[in-house]
This record gives sequence, C-alpha cells and structure tokens, in this order.
Amino acid sequence: MGCAEIISLDEVRARKHWTTLRQRLHERFAQWLDRLEAALPEVEPTLGQVSETIWALRQQLTGSLAETIVHHTHHEEQQRQHRPCPTCARLLTARGPVHRCVETLVGVVELERPYFYCQGCRTGTYPLDEVLDVSAGRLQLDVQQAAVDLATEVPYETAARLFGRLSGIPISSERMHTFTHQVAKELTVLDVAPSREEIVRRVGQVAAGRFRRPVLVLGIDGAYVPSRPESARGRRPGQAHSRARRARWRHEWREAKGFRFYLLDGERIVHVLSWHQVQKEQELGEALQQVKDAGLIPEEAVRLCVVCDGAEWIWKHVQALFPNACQVLDYYHCSEYLHKVAKAQYGQTCQALEWVEATLTRLYMGKVGTVLGGLRRMQPTSAEALKAIDNCWVYLNDHRGRTHSGKFRRGGYPLGSGGIESSNTFMCHVRLKRSGAWWYEATSNQMLALRCAMYNGTLDQVIVRYQQRRRAMSE
Ligand SMILES: [Zn+2]
Repeated sequence: MGCAEIISLDEVRARKHWTTLRQRLHERFAQWLDRLEAALPEVEPTLGQVSETIWALRQQLTGSLAETIVHHTHHEEQQRQHRPCPTCARLLTARGPVHRCVETLVGVVELERPYFYCQGCRTGTYPLDEVLDVSAGRLQLDVQQAAVDLATEVPYETAARLFGRLSGIPISSERMHTFTHQVAKELTVLDVAPSREEIVRRVGQVAAGRFRRPVLVLGIDGAYVPSRPESARGRRPGQAHSRARRARWRHEWREAKGFRFYLLDGERIVHVLSWHQVQKEQELGEALQQVKDAGLIPEEAVRLCVVCDGAEWIWKHVQALFPNACQVLDYYHCSEYLHKVAKAQYGQTCQALEWVEATLTRLYMGKVGTVLGGLRRMQPTSAEALKAIDNCWVYLNDHRGRTHSGKFRRGGYPLGSGGIESSNTFMCHVRLKRSGAWWYEATSNQMLALRCAMYNGTLDQVIVRYQQRRRAMSE
C-alpha cells in the first residue's frame, strides 16, 4: 500500500510545502480573476450583475482550488512507478496516466493517475482513487447526499430542477431517483432510529426540573398511500405503446402502518422515533420488537403510554412488548362511534349533538360503566340504530380499561392520537400523496424510510451506512 507516501496536510505544513501550495492556489485564483474580468460588464455593473457573474463562475474557482490541493498533497501517488499487486504481491509497473473527471459540490476536479494491472490476477487498480476515497461514477458522495436530502422533501422533477439551479450541477430526475433508491435500499427501523444515547438525551431534556418522569407516548396507526402493483412496471405513461396498456393495472390505496414514539413536554411534542411502511401487521410488530430488543427505549426513565384506536392487532403487539405501558383508547376514534349512534338514533338533530356531548363528558369523568348501561337501555329507532348501538357497546366494553380519561388527564397522559396522526401526515402524505403519483410498494417504502430518517434526525447516519456498504461491495 502507498500509505507511507501520502503527504498529509500536517506534513505539508511541516515541510514548508504549504508555502508552495499557497503560491499555486494564488496562481489558480489569478487565472480565475482573468475569467471574471472578461465576464463582468464593462461599465458600472449592478449588484445583481456582479452577483450573477460570480455565481456562474464560482465552481470554476472552488473546483480549481480543490484540484490544486489534491494534486499537491498527493503528488507522489500520481508519480508512482511501481506497486505490489494487492492480491498476489507481484511488483506491477504503472500504465497511463489515465484521466478521470469527478464532480463535487465545490466543482469539477480533474485527476491524472497511474493504473496498475496484474496479468496474473486480471485486476487493475488506481491507488490514487483509493487514497482519495473517490466514489464510483462522476458525481461524488457530497453531491449524492445533497440530492437525496432534496428528493426526500419534494418530487423528483422539482428536486432535479431546484438542485441544478442552486448547486450549479445538472442532475436529471432519473439520477435523483437512482441515488434515492441506492441510499434507501433495504433500510430497517434500526437504520433510521436514533441511538439509545440520543433518545436518553431527549428524555433528559424534557425531564429536567420535573418531579415526575416524562410521558413517552407510543402511537400506532395506519395511513393510506397511493400504490400501483409490481405488474405495472416498465409501462410509464408517455412511453411508446403504453397508452393502450395503461389500463392493465389499477391503482390502489395501500395502508402504510406505522408507529411513533414522542415525548409530551407541556403542550409541546418532542419527536423521538417514527417508522412507517406499507407492511403487514406482523412486520410492524417485528419492527417494534427490534426497537425494544435494541434497548432504544429507556423504559425506566419514562412513563410509557400507548394511544391507539380499537384495532385488536395493535393492542396485541402492545400487550406483548410493553405490558406495563398505560393504554389509552383514542378519544377521537371513540367519539366517532358515539357520533354514529347519535346520527342513527336521533338523525341530524340537536338532541343527537347533546347526547354525544353528554356521553363524552361521562367518559371523560371515567364513568364508562354508566355509558355502557345507558347504551343497553336505549330503545333503537331503526335497524341501523340497533347496529350502531351494538357496535358502540362492544367497542367501549372491549376497551373499558382504556377509557378512564379523567385519570389519564390528571396523570398528564394524552387522550388523542394526534401525535401519530401528524406523523402520518408528514411522513406519508406530504411526499407520497400527489396527484397522478402512484408508488410501487418497494419505492414507497424506501421513500417512507428516508422521510422517517429525516424526521428522526438520522439522515446523515443513513448516508454513512450507504457509503460503508458501497465500500464493502467494491472490496
Ligand atoms: Zn496479482
């Protein structure tokens, strides 16, 4: 390996190479000033003209500075004549130099470097690329990262247009799509979850100066996202012959099931961890299990509370994983049942509204027994009313331990699942629900994973993972 021959920046300074490097940087700057001079309007430019001219040329300056530093600090690697084959250790002689052009956020960097090929192993290497940790392809990791950041927030076409305008680097929406796909491939809940240390830190901030442990809410819910079946692949609207075939697939709404952990800090919500995917109940249960097994949730430092609607599968997972958590039936789902009864029994009348208000108040006071008794004594005015009353009775009876709203309120527990619903909105709907956009399950899950990472504050960690995987694959 050529490690001993790389001159680090420290050594450069130590050997007074820095003085030489500065001179070279000054020379590049002077060359750039010549270009600037030629590009500026000749008489009294406006501030806008000055800005526009420099903006258009900025990457030529910063790119040339990056290039000069690379050339100077890796001078010996570029001049290298021999190297042992990394596999068989045979001494190889340099071929080339071979030119390569890479693009970073600061601009284009041209590389001239020797190539070493081993006839025996039939493999070739560019030692300089390894030392510089150059990514495969022209666009380097910083560009890819910025592109993924943007594509996670806005549609690919918009992302590509904005990216080109703001960074000066043209990227097609297809490339945006490819980068996103590569970065988000096979992400799991643990890849996008904050570390235990980070979660403990957020809990500590909310707990500071308080007597009681903070309430950590776990909300679980589903949201419908627009999907298209795998069988629709390869037939994009606008492609030749696609119109006749388009009707072969029908779009559908699939349920993205998700959960969110968040802390209650007075009126404020402190986000901890979200995970949403188009997935089966069982997969959601497994993801929760992974979070639990990884020890991410400091259960001893919080009062854990689960808020959900009445869906049985949700409570099943909660009971198995967090048996000591306080279970709260979502107040709004609950009131939906009451509204159905009132509408069927009393129609669109004042009496209907009064009945709902009175019943909610009783539930709020913890008098679920009274409410159940009242439902039993009700004389149904129609078959529809009978059905609504029965449904409501079963629902409240099944969850009677989860409706002690008065007690929950005094404990500072939440009564509604607003936290998970807002998570549904900004994880699932904001990016996925767009007119005419129908997602394959795999790509919608990738986008959901990235959006969760963004809001969990772990997008950087996801990029590092991607980088490590690429490196492991190329070795
Ligand atoms: Zn070899």
